[in-house]
Amino acid sequence: MRFFTFIISTFIFCIIVHAQDSKKISEKYFPDFNIDIPTPAFDKKKGFTNYSEMMLFLNKWCEKYPTKISYQFIGKSQKEKKIPMVFIGDDNLDNLKVCFMGGLHGNEPASTESMLFLIRNLLEVDTLKSISNSLNIAIIPMANIDGYEKQSRYASNGEDLNRDHTKLSNQETIAIKESINKFSPDVMVDFHEYKPYRADFVNFGEYGTTSMYDCMFLYSGNLNVCPTIKTVIEKTFLPPAKLKLDENGLKYHNYLSSKHKNNKIYFNLGSVSPRSSATSFALGNTISMLMEIRGVGLNRNSFKRRVYTTYLLAHSFLKTSIDNSEYIQSILKNCNNFPEKITIKYKREKSNYKLNMIDVYNNDIIDVDIVLNNGLKCENQTTRKRPFYYFIDKDLSVVTDKLKILGLNIDTLKFDELFELESYKIISQKKSSVKFQGFYENIVSTTIVKEQKVLKKGTFVVPMDQRKSNLAVETLEPEMLSGFLRFNVIEPNDIQKIYRYTLNKKL
Ligand SMILES: [Zn+2]
Repeated sequence: MRFFTFIISTFIFCIIVHAQDSKKISEKYFPDFNIDIPTPAFDKKKGFTNYSEMMLFLNKWCEKYPTKISYQFIGKSQKEKKIPMVFIGDDNLDNLKVCFMGGLHGNEPASTESMLFLIRNLLEVDTLKSISNSLNIAIIPMANIDGYEKQSRYASNGEDLNRDHTKLSNQETIAIKESINKFSPDVMVDFHEYKPYRADFVNFGEYGTTSMYDCMFLYSGNLNVCPTIKTVIEKTFLPPAKLKLDENGLKYHNYLSSKHKNNKIYFNLGSVSPRSSATSFALGNTISMLMEIRGVGLNRNSFKRRVYTTYLLAHSFLKTSIDNSEYIQSILKNCNNFPEKITIKYKREKSNYKLNMIDVYNNDIIDVDIVLNNGLKCENQTTRKRPFYYFIDKDLSVVTDKLKILGLNIDTLKFDELFELESYKIISQKKSSVKFQGFYENIVSTTIVKEQKVLKKGTFVVPMDQRKSNLAVETLEPEMLSGFLRFNVIEPNDIQKIYRYTLNKKL
């Protein structure tokens, strides 16, 4: 019966949303900005900037300012379109490095358009020109070109590129990871848009609700991420950004994603999973954020407002980076003092929360009672000693190849050697009941067994005193939710070929 109520109310919701066309709500709460944004999409009445328009735009600025801006192709999309990464600024080694990305989801056009607007302004607007003297900036404006060209979220094979940051099964994700790691940013921001009208919201209000926030901030609460990264985001980066948004009458909140499960709606706050960009880059000891602008499904409604909101955030993050350059560098350096324990399992804090939303029937702002799983307040459930090295059998190069793409340095043993090691013994094992990105996940639990073993010459060695070592933790430990075993990069049997070395003795 509840299921039918859900179906019927979803249907009614769709009719209402369709009938109102969301235009009244846009007019009342999200009026468009009357500003000039000289980028390709605004030269036309319909549609968004396509790939060739973007390339013309970039080439125009490279010709006009050859010493200030350049780009490199970092790889190709599945349909063979070359992906540009734009560089602006002084590559003086002491300057802080900031990397921005747009268009990883192809149906979130404000992200790409705002990156083009930012590029233009950094070169043309007098008050912004000095920014590039103090920072080293890299921008990937259209990360998922094939998706963007048809305004689809997905890559051309139907996969979601922002769920591929550990499995790395798409050439776009590999190109993005390799090029960003090569650039090695201190600050990384991935710009997106979110869907404000969701079937999940149909049970709220009279006939459903829609989100009221122009933008939402996502960052990592993963317990293996260096904790000061979250502090710097909350105390240093977000306050001035919020101030800018306030000045422009824009509303914001921390990012909430809704999940429908067993006839109940849950909201998740914060990012915990390294399969997505926010946590993936944070695990590599980078200040990492993901910005969600209210936009998916709105076509060109309030498009200038959406682009300008994204631009204001990007601009604010650049300014904060300059103002706190030394502080950020020292924080990130201290993150390389790793703790003794790693988190294997965690629990998010669950609480009741009142969320302001717009009622789509009468267009009023109402309080909605929701259940919140707070990923920014996680608690340890299972921990393990952090190893000083992982060893990986030499026939498991599929694993080390992916670790290299994630930015890790890998050594090999120069001769056969006896070690006191920890290996994994699987005590329970099953497949997930539903497919994720086309595959069933391996769900295992293990115990640790100590053993003495001779490892062969050529065995891979992953030193855990390196900057990106937390990515090894999250991919190699067998229980990890986005790990290589879980995501079928390796089979359960292969876990016997990965060892932990926990003695505090340099190799
Ligand atoms: Zn997105």
